[in-house]
Amino acid sequence: MQLADMDRLEMNEWLAGIDPAAYRAAQVFRWIGRGAACFDDMTDLPRELRARLASRAAVGIPEVVGRLCSARDGTVKYVLKTADGNVVESVLMEYRHGFSVCVSSQAGCRMGCAFCASRPQGFARSLSPGEMFGQVAAVSRREKKSVGHVVVMGIGEPFDNYDGTLKFVRLLHEHEETNIGYRKVTISTSGILPGILRLSEEGLPIGLSVSLHASNDAVRERLMPVNRKYSIDKLLEGCKIYTDRTKRRVTFEYALIAGVNDAPGDARELARRLRHMLCHVNLIPVNRTEDSGFRPSPKERVRRFAELLSGGGVQTTVRRELGSDIAAACGQLRNTVVTQ
Ligand code: SAH
Repeated sequence: MQLADMDRLEMNEWLAGIDPAAYRAAQVFRWIGRGAACFDDMTDLPRELRARLASRAAVGIPEVVGRLCSARDGTVKYVLKTADGNVVESVLMEYRHGFSVCVSSQAGCRMGCAFCASRPQGFARSLSPGEMFGQVAAVSRREKKSVGHVVVMGIGEPFDNYDGTLKFVRLLHEHEETNIGYRKVTISTSGILPGILRLSEEGLPIGLSVSLHASNDAVRERLMPVNRKYSIDKLLEGCKIYTDRTKRRVTFEYALIAGVNDAPGDARELARRLRHMLCHVNLIPVNRTEDSGFRPSPKERVRRFAELLSGGGVQTTVRRELGSDIAAACGQLRNTVVTQ
């Protein structure tokens, strides 16, 4: 285990075996919360203790290796490298209510969605809780900004890394420097039903977002292989259980792709399926990626789709796209494995 993966209790136990002073654990935990990348950043620890810690464990906060700033909207994309050389991306966005960080949950992704830039990159491994926490802490440290919201919507499928993601969310809450409550966190899934059911049993008010992108199985299967395992009906049943248990609404993400899923008939079918659910639909004209060949639906088509959904009784918004000029928008993040 790396230090950043430890919660407060684990840190206490681990440090008790190294230094008898009880306050050391609090000090180290605070440095992790502040996003210290290495032991030498922990300036209030004696040099000798820093060396001893370094000989036993790694800090586990990914190192910032790149930073790209959008000229259009102030969105900042961070490229970070884990201790074993995997590269992931995180995005800092500014909204009216404050700053949000979009976090990657895996180096690469196994889901293979046709429209997503991380697909051709393959899959390396899941990120540890500390590596996820480290993205938030490192970005916040570099920007000198306090982060109010976290969305697990970067590279990877969080429910393919369920335990890691949940512990990450607990760390966000437990570290005083971030102090981000469960309500301020949203997890986005491509539709892994068991993950949705497990989350609904946690008793935590974490937000859930589901990437739907189609109103029937034929289209969804073409876009998202996960649909072969969990059909739309099964998925929506799971979402219903989530909303019943948590009393929280689900957000459905729907990327509008010209000529694929944006016909008025698709909107009507979707409205029929979602009408009675506690939910909200986020429409996003699909972002171009290098290899998908998909084009975003024209403005007029998006407007019509939104109108039909709202008219059919489903709350709908069209998402403001942030960071598309620096490939930081939805589906434009990709991991690269750095070979040294
Ligand atoms: N695997 C999770 C987390 C990724 S979140 C999930 O699928 O939900 C990233 C969001 O961006 C998802 O809703 C995804 O479907 C969406 N997305 C991927 N590629 C996109 C693209 N080219 N244009 C718009 N949205 C895209």
